[in-house]
Amino acid sequence: MLDDILVEVSPKMYDNMGLSEDDVEPLKIQKFTEFLEREFPDNCQRNQPLGPFTSYRVGGPAAALMTPHTQEELERLVRLCRDKEIPWFVLGEGANILVHDHGYAGIAISLKQCCSRLFHQDGLLYAGAGVAVRDLVRYCEVHGLAGLDYMSGIPGTVGGALVMNAGAFVGEIGDRVVRIEALNESGQRVQLSREEARFGYRRADGLVGKLLLGCWIVVDPGDPAELSRAREAYLKRRAEKQPLEYPSCGSVFKRPPGDYAGRLIEAVGAKGLTVGGAKVSEKHANFIVNFNNASARDIYELICRVQEMVYRQFKVWLELEVRLIGFPPEDVQRVKGVQDGA
Ligand SMILES: Cc1cc2nc3c(=O)[nH]c(=O)nc-3n(C[C@H](O)[C@H](O)[C@H](O)COP(=O)(O)OP(=O)(O)OC[C@H]3O[C@@H](n4cnc5c(N)ncnc54)[C@H](O)[C@@H]3O)c2cc1C
Repeated sequence: MLDDILVEVSPKMYDNMGLSEDDVEPLKIQKFTEFLEREFPDNCQRNQPLGPFTSYRVGGPAAALMTPHTQEELERLVRLCRDKEIPWFVLGEGANILVHDHGYAGIAISLKQCCSRLFHQDGLLYAGAGVAVRDLVRYCEVHGLAGLDYMSGIPGTVGGALVMNAGAFVGEIGDRVVRIEALNESGQRVQLSREEARFGYRRADGLVGKLLLGCWIVVDPGDPAELSRAREAYLKRRAEKQPLEYPSCGSVFKRPPGDYAGRLIEAVGAKGLTVGGAKVSEKHANFIVNFNNASARDIYELICRVQEMVYRQFKVWLELEVRLIGFPPEDVQRVKGVQDGA
């Protein structure tokens, strides 16, 4: 039993042995992942480097990467993590995360298998959170469903798109979502309306802390050939403006009110600035690219440098769009900077 296993590394016991909580935590996680490996032998990868699962291609290992086959398995996994106070996060396509070089001391959960349904009926499309946005766009095109063509070329999963309220050009995914299925903070299944999700610019405050399973989206009848032309046009516009030849996370910073992060970054002369193998793109100043085997630390330090340069000149603190995974609280606080009055 898991309880028997974890009792071996209970804080009290290690306290008695003169060890600190810092010693206990890794052991507790190790025991937990050994347990997961026994319980879920075909969908548990222990000490799995996350770099290859992110669009930045950097970052150390998660204690385990879990890919539940079914939603029942997913629910059980989340319950186990919660009961044993083991941290976890959902890994979509990693298109908007920067994982620390030392990795993530917890469980990364992929929903690719357990939340992969995609179907439509009566003007509504259901998309599982693990479905890739490119497959969603393709599905709409093949079935003549209009309304999401502007999502063409946005990497990631439906779950990641909902959390980030991803969008481009003329819209955001939240504009068309009518209902979201999720597990709430206590692991119970809930349904949320668009209003409850509280979509905003690259945020959805009502979804914070929830594990999203899928959503219903309103679609209109459309002509497949026209949708295909629209997709090609969006992809072309992206290729013209974005440095897609290098690994990146897309825009690093959110648009500050009434301005553009790229304009500010360019104005302070940060275009082309490098730290190690990370560089502020010369093609699009709001992209920091991994141009030469960057470490996560290189990218992080360059982010901080850009924020400081922009703040010094414009008194605007650029808010991060990319999410930091596995970074210590002081690093997270540093990039929050003056937003929090720090
Ligand atoms: C080249 C490039 C271009 C881009 N262009 C755009 C653009 O035009 N517009 C735009 O909005 N974004 C853009 N992005 C950013 C990125 O594509 C989006 O933010 C995308 O929605 C991330 O999805 P993901 O599945 O990869 O999420 P991840 O990066 O894996 O995760 C992002 C966050 O969402 C959480 N999450 C993911 N799935 C779930 C779930 N099911 N339940 C709960 N939490 C979850 C993760 O834990 C993490 O906190 C771009 C990125 C790249 C690399």
